[in-house]
Amino acid sequence: MKLSGLGEFGLIEFLTGDLIFNPGQVIKGVGDDTAVLEVDGGKWLLFTTDMMVEGVHFELDYSNLRQVGWKALAVNLSDIAAMGGSPIHALVSLAVSLRFDTFELAELYDGLKEAARAYKVNIVGGDTVKNPDRLVINVALLGEVEAGKAVFRSGARPGDQVYVTGPLGASEAGLYLFKNPATACPPKASEYCRRAHAAPVPRVDAGMLLARCGVTSMDDISDGLASELHEICGASGVGCLIRQEDIPVDARVRAVAGSAGVDPFQWALYGGEDLELVFTAGPQDGEKIKSEAAGAGIEVYTIGEITDSDGVRLMLPGGKIKILPRGGYDHFL
Ligand code: ADP
Ligand code: MG
Repeated sequence: MKLSGLGEFGLIEFLTGDLIFNPGQVIKGVGDDTAVLEVDGGKWLLFTTDMMVEGVHFELDYSNLRQVGWKALAVNLSDIAAMGGSPIHALVSLAVSLRFDTFELAELYDGLKEAARAYKVNIVGGDTVKNPDRLVINVALLGEVEAGKAVFRSGARPGDQVYVTGPLGASEAGLYLFKNPATACPPKASEYCRRAHAAPVPRVDAGMLLARCGVTSMDDISDGLASELHEICGASGVGCLIRQEDIPVDARVRAVAGSAGVDPFQWALYGGEDLELVFTAGPQDGEKIKSEAAGAGIEVYTIGEITDSDGVRLMLPGGKIKILPRGGYDHFL
C-alpha cells in the first residue's frame, strides 16, 4: 500500500496495533495527547514527543532559530497541557546540517532554554547527529499529574458544553502573511499573527486549572479546531454541534483575513498550532469553570455542545447546520 493517500491518522493506525509488551504501567498508550503511565506514588507520568522538520514544520525565512527552539518545546508543552499535567523533564535531539554555524545553533538553544525556563522544565539529555540538508529537532517531554486526574479525549458526554481557551486562527493568519508578504494590513495585526505562528504560547496553567475543575475531555489545538473536535468525538463516541458565531476570532485576524479575501473562520476551524485548548464540561460545571478561570486571568469561550451522535456539525450564522469535515494539515494526504 502506498503511503500517500493513507492519511496521517490512517498511517498511525496501521503502524500502532500491538505495541505494548509490558502492560503493567500503561494507563494510556497511543491515542491521546500523551501516554499516561502509572509509576510508584500518587502521580501519573505523562510522556510525549513531537518533531519539527525544516521545510515541513518551519522555514527559516519565516522564523528565526530562537523561535524554532521555543516552538519545538512549546508544541510538546501543549500536549502536556491538554492532559491537565505539569511538564518536568525534556530530551532534545537534533539532526544538523553543516551549513549552520555554532552561533546559529546557540540561538536555537536560546529559544529552547527560554521556553524551558518559563515552564520550569529541565533539559536532561538528547542526541546530536548530522543531516545532509535540513534541520530536524525532536523533543521528548515528561510531565506529571495527580493519579486519576489526567483529562483524556474520551470523556465527553452528551449534554456537555464545548469550550476553547482563546481566540483561534492567528497562527494560520501569520503563516499566510509569511507566504504572502505583500498583503496590505495594519502593522499591529501583522505582528500579532506572525508572532502567533512563529512563537505560540502553550496553555499549561489553563490545562492544570481546567483539570482541577473536573472538565470531561480536553485536547490542544495543534491540527485545527475541526480536527481536534473529531478526535474528542471519535474517542468519546459522541457528536457535537458547534456554533460558528461563538468561535472567538481576534479582530487582528479578521483584519488580515479581510485583506487576504479569506473567511477568517476557515483559519479558525482548520488552521493548526494555535495551541489553545478545546475542552468539554458538564452543564452544571460551566459557571464554576468560568469564575475560576476568570480569577486566574484565563478566558474561556463556550462554542457549542456535545450531542448523542450525528458527527461533528457546525451551525452557520442564520441557523443552517452542516457537517464539519476533519480538514487540517495532513502529512500523508
Ligand atoms: P498530537 O497531535 O496530539 O501531538 P499526534 O496526532 O501526533 O498527536 O499522534 C496521535 C497519537 O498517535 C498519539 O497518541 C501519538 O503518541 C501516536 N503516534 C504518532 N506517531 C506514532 C508512531 N510512529 N508510533 C507510535 N505512536 C505514534
Ligand atoms: Mg495534542
